[in-house]
Amino acid sequence: MTKRIAIIGAGVAGLAAAHDLRGRGHEIRIFEAAEQVGGLAGGFKAPHWDWTLEKFYHHWFQSDAHMLRLIGELGWSDQVIFPRPYTVVYHKGRFEPLDSIPAAARFTLKHFSLLDFIRFGAAGLYLRLTPRWQPLERVTADAWMRKWVGKPVYETLWQPLLVGKFGEENLDVVNMAWFWARLKARTTRLGTFQGGFQAFLDRFAARLQEQGVAIHLSSPVTRISQPAGPGLNLTTTGGEQHFDAVLSTSSPALMAHLAPDLPGQYAASLQALKSLGAVVLILSLRQRLTGYYWHNLPKEAGFPYLAMVEHTNFIGPQHYGGDHLIYCGDYLPPDHAYFDLSKEALVAHFLPSLARFNPAFDPSWVKDSWLFRTRYAQPVPPVNHSQNIPPLRTPLPGLYFASMSQVYPWDRGTNFAVEIGRRAAGMMLADFEAAS
Ligand SMILES: Cc1cc2nc3c(=O)[nH]c(=O)nc-3n(C[C@H](O)[C@H](O)[C@H](O)COP(=O)(O)OP(=O)(O)OC[C@H]3O[C@@H](n4cnc5c(N)ncnc54)[C@H](O)[C@@H]3O)c2cc1C
Repeated sequence: MTKRIAIIGAGVAGLAAAHDLRGRGHEIRIFEAAEQVGGLAGGFKAPHWDWTLEKFYHHWFQSDAHMLRLIGELGWSDQVIFPRPYTVVYHKGRFEPLDSIPAAARFTLKHFSLLDFIRFGAAGLYLRLTPRWQPLERVTADAWMRKWVGKPVYETLWQPLLVGKFGEENLDVVNMAWFWARLKARTTRLGTFQGGFQAFLDRFAARLQEQGVAIHLSSPVTRISQPAGPGLNLTTTGGEQHFDAVLSTSSPALMAHLAPDLPGQYAASLQALKSLGAVVLILSLRQRLTGYYWHNLPKEAGFPYLAMVEHTNFIGPQHYGGDHLIYCGDYLPPDHAYFDLSKEALVAHFLPSLARFNPAFDPSWVKDSWLFRTRYAQPVPPVNHSQNIPPLRTPLPGLYFASMSQVYPWDRGTNFAVEIGRRAAGMMLADFEAAS
């Protein structure tokens, strides 16, 4: 029997779920608070650009099987490209390549003892080869690395990455399974869609609409409630509507707020999930700044952000009217001062650091700037996190929840948004079948 289903959020997870649910003939309505589809993976376009630019730097890995399979099903695999941009890390005043096994080996041999090199190599090999992440989630990444990689290499290479991503305050929180997943899933070739992520997302949304999915933009859902009978009621800008089932892809904190009828224990598990926000300033420059794509910047090096990403060393400036585009980005607690500063204040704060990438840099190179911020960007996985994850099937009959915070042990990403969206859809379909 055809079910009437609402999906909250037209991000990657919501769109992927809609694809599978509509494919089985159900009536789907997506409610999206923003003016466009795409969520965190969305982009924008200056009038003289051919391609869209992601608001928050985005790329795919060649190991992103869920995303690549979905694109294959849609018939657009020929639109995916995988250039080989370069990642470097700032070390003692220089930028050194560190994005492949040979590069990491060269770096370690150059800066550390042979014993440190062997420990680093053995630990890296173990993490790459072992399929078992479960024992690794019982310890913090900090403790595991200190023990097995050794203090010199860990404190130079990987601790800065952990501190940069999660902050000093989470060093004794983040578990080692997160690091295992990170090493496991990365490739040196990085991918995107012709035209940028937003081009893919718009095309995906248009295909869903052709197939009969209704997508309501600028339509925030303000409440999910349980009526006296079966199903759920959604309150949106258009009033209250009744659905047989609802999938929410909002943040966990918002979900707890949206659905006050959720039993206390489930709501508490949503509230207990920790995450960080992200602040990203984009500058368009008249000239190329560096020869690299991704610059990892250890906190102690004194840059006012975690990463500088020169996007046009990944996707050429010819797609952006000749502009050279850089992101200055950081993951930060949601109460950090960067969330309240104006764009102009952040530009003034960040600009002097650009001469550290290229001494010839001059502020007159800056043509334009854009600021994007989100208070929900990066889940923080503590020790034994697998036991804390709220199930996708909530205790309210017909209500499902799928967010970045339930992606585990893998780090969040659009690939896993596809996976979790499709997993939620599969669960809903199985529940409909069981009930019929
Ligand atoms: C700085 C940064 C860099 C990243 N880099 C990469 C990368 O390189 N590669 C990669 O693959 N991934 C990357 N990601 C992660 C990726 O963006 C996410 O994992 C993915 O987009 C999550 O998709 P989602 O659908 O689960 O959630 P979201 O994208 O958050 O979508 C949820 C949607 O729900 C909407 N919504 C929320 N509440 C309501 C409501 N009440 N009513 C209606 N609508 C609502 C939101 O507006 C949003 O559109 C990055 C993320 C960030 C922040």
